[in-house]
This record gives sequence, structure tokens and C-alpha cells, in this order.
Amino acid sequence: MLDLIIKGGTVVTPAGVGTSDVGVQGEKIVMVSAPGAITVEAQKTIDATGKIVVPGGIEAHAHVGHPGAGGPGAAGVNAGVTEQSRGALWGGTTTVVDFTPSPDEGEVLKAVYAYMEDWKGKAFTDYNTHVTYRGTSTVMAIDQIKDLIADGFASIKIFTTSVRPPTPDRPTNRTDMGRLAAVMTECAKHGGIVAVHSEDDDIVQYNYARAKERGWLDWWNMHLVHSNLSEDLSFRRVTRVAEKTGGAMYFVHTSAKEGVNAIAEARSKGLPVYGETLNTYCSFNADNYKEPDGMKYHTYPSLKFEDDRLRLWDGLLHGDMTFMATDSIATTYANKIVGRSVLDVQGGNIGIEIRMGITYKEGVIDKGMSLERYVDITSTNVAKVLGFYPQKGAIAAGSDADITIIDPSIKKRLAMSDLHVQDYSSWEKHQIEGWPSTVILRGHVMIEDRKLVGRRPIGQLARRKIDPLVLKRPMC
Ligand SMILES: [Zn+2]
Repeated sequence: MLDLIIKGGTVVTPAGVGTSDVGVQGEKIVMVSAPGAITVEAQKTIDATGKIVVPGGIEAHAHVGHPGAGGPGAAGVNAGVTEQSRGALWGGTTTVVDFTPSPDEGEVLKAVYAYMEDWKGKAFTDYNTHVTYRGTSTVMAIDQIKDLIADGFASIKIFTTSVRPPTPDRPTNRTDMGRLAAVMTECAKHGGIVAVHSEDDDIVQYNYARAKERGWLDWWNMHLVHSNLSEDLSFRRVTRVAEKTGGAMYFVHTSAKEGVNAIAEARSKGLPVYGETLNTYCSFNADNYKEPDGMKYHTYPSLKFEDDRLRLWDGLLHGDMTFMATDSIATTYANKIVGRSVLDVQGGNIGIEIRMGITYKEGVIDKGMSLERYVDITSTNVAKVLGFYPQKGAIAAGSDADITIIDPSIKKRLAMSDLHVQDYSSWEKHQIEGWPSTVILRGHVMIEDRKLVGRRPIGQLARRKIDPLVLKRPMC
């Protein structure tokens, strides 16, 4: 007796796409078989005829425990773990990776567990976290990277820029090249990967100074501050550090064609360099900044030009780019638009729920992306690069039964009433075609036919271990 059979769907497995039945026992997938070949009875059967069955999405970039994205004069706002993870689940994402700041002193691992306490008992998805190191990180803190990796937190995030000009109440996050090399060396030694927010701080800070002098402070100039040249220089410099230290790495929120090209070049040399981009960079460009309240589209570094947007898609379609994330930060709309100059525009956007559906529409429907590639960039590749694979990211016997069923017959304009993390979305009124309708987390049916049926937050910490091959050369 099985617990669940999903029958008759178009199933995307590591072996390809075809009509299959999927058998689930407890929290695991136990068989993927030809239609009708599973003869054992099941407690529950889901008819997926006419639907697409994919591995549950994995969001690699969400600031869920962010202390609150407060703009100037605005109180910090954070929708919290429950609302954001439930939104992720509604959108077909079953695992979310958050960011924990590393303390400069004391036990880093202890700080990580303390930070992740917030997820315990409140999560509607499984979860893990990157650990963020800063320019003030001590040698002692860097020495503890091996402990983080050993406990299943296999990724370190760093910034090569302070992003905005540092102020006394907003000190810099920027990590110098010395620390970057040290972090990469430790990760290379112990099996971790480095996630880099890569911008050239000299270029960015000069551009801020120029914008001030010339009076170009309006938010719609953001792409002239966080510029293409900055991404080009920084990606190449960071890639060189990776090459010299033997470190594996990926660039978070790649935004420019120069970034994609630098990644492609590094990969062509066999370096384990991967690229993440964001839905906001793939749906919009810097022209959207000119709309009233157009800063709502902004996420650091910045939206770029139309040819950059097209190169990002080209990279996603053909393999130079590795996966799609959102840089989700929950703020209210009022909070998101309160900063109106290049000095204070709020970063992040509420993207955690739309990622699977919008990527399906813009990738599969609009650009003819194969279903295999769609699954790669929304789940499998994230699982491989961050170390969830093959426990997650695959519809295969032995993997967690994290399964999203997409209903391709859902065609409509997206309304806020379709979404569950309030109170705005950059994708409101976007035409969608195909949207997650049923979502299963470790064998538990959580969303069924667009209804929340799993009312308990059963999400767990999912520990990670990266396949050594992924850390040696570009494997996905
Ligand atoms: Zn971020």
C-alpha cells in the first residue's frame, strides 16, 4: 500500500519528460513508472492528467529573517517566516534558503542555529541558510567555515561592495579581496561554495559621487550607478580569485550581459563558476524605472538595459546561467517606494511566490524553454549547486516527495488576490499561463487544486552537502 500516487501527468524526471505515475511512501518518492504500471493500491490518488509534474521549487535567495527593510523614516517591515514560506509554497516552492549574518566573534555555528530558531515550527517549506561574512569578519570567524559546512550550511555569502555609500548608522558590508580569498580557500578545502554579490566598489562609489555632483539623484538613474562596467570588472576579478584559490562560487543576482559573458568565459575554462539571476531582471529593464513609483522594480545591483535582459534569458536557455532566484524581501508597498533617490531606494522585492509561475510563463510559454531546462533552473541546479541534490531537486525514487503540479490551463491576469504575501507585487496584472495548482512537501499534500489543505507548518531544516564534482568544474 502506497500513501500517494500521482497519475497520468507529464512528469519531468532526470531521465527526461514523459507521461508517468509517481508513487510516494511516507516522505519519499518510491517509484516513477510507466502509466498504469503501479499496481499497488494507494491511500490517495491525484489525477494529474493534462498537468505538468515537476520537483518542488528551490528558492536560493530570500531574505526571510531580514530584520526589516526599513527605508528612510519607515519602520522595518518583515512579513515573517510563516507568511513568506506559505507564499513560497502557494507558488510551488518547497525549499527556501535564507541568509544569516556571521558574527565576528564567538561561535558562528551557534549564531546560525540561533538565527534559524525563527524558522522552527513556523515554516511551510523546508529551509536552510547561507552565512554572510563581512568586511569586519575576523580570521577566527573565517576559520570556523569548516564547522558550518560540516553541519550542512555549505554556502558563504559575501559582498564586494558596500552597495550604497556607507553612513554611520549603515556601516559597510563590503568584504575586501583578502577576506574573499581566505573564504574561498576555506570553502575549497572543506566542500563549501561562495555566493558573491559582485560589484566593483570603486566604480559604484565614484558613480554615486558623480550622481551627487551632477544632480542625478532620481531613482531611475540606478543603472548608471550600479553599472554594467561595475559588473564586468568585479565578476572578472572575483573569478580570478576563484581560479587562484580553487574555490567554487556563484554570482548572485547577475544583472548585465557583461556578467553573463564573464561567467561563460570562466566556465569555458572549466572553472566551477555558476550564475544566479532574478525574475525581476528577466521581466523588466531600466525603462521600467521611469514609471510612476518605478523604484518598485528595483533590486540591487539594478535593472539594466533590454539587451542585458535578453542576454540573461539567453544564458538561462542555453546554459551560461544556472538558476533563477528572486532576492525576496517582504516590505509593504509604502515601505518599498519610500526611498526615491539612488541613495536610498529599497532593495529586494516580494518575489518568493511568483518565481515558478512567472518563469514558466516567460521561459516555457514565451521563449520555448524545454521543461527539462525549466526544472533545471528552478529546482535541480539550485539543489546541485547548494548541496540539496539528490534529496531534493529530482522526481526520482529515493528523493524527498517535494512535488509541484503545474496546471497549464490557468490563464489569467495575475491579481493580488491570487497572491499570499501582501501587499504588492511587481507582477500584478501580468498575464500568466500555467501556474502551480498542487504542491506536496515531503509527501504531505499542502496545496491541492489551489486550496491550502496542509494547515500545519511542517517545514524542516534540510542540511546540505555539495557533490565534490560540482565544486571542481561546471556541472550544471
Ligand atoms: Zn539579496
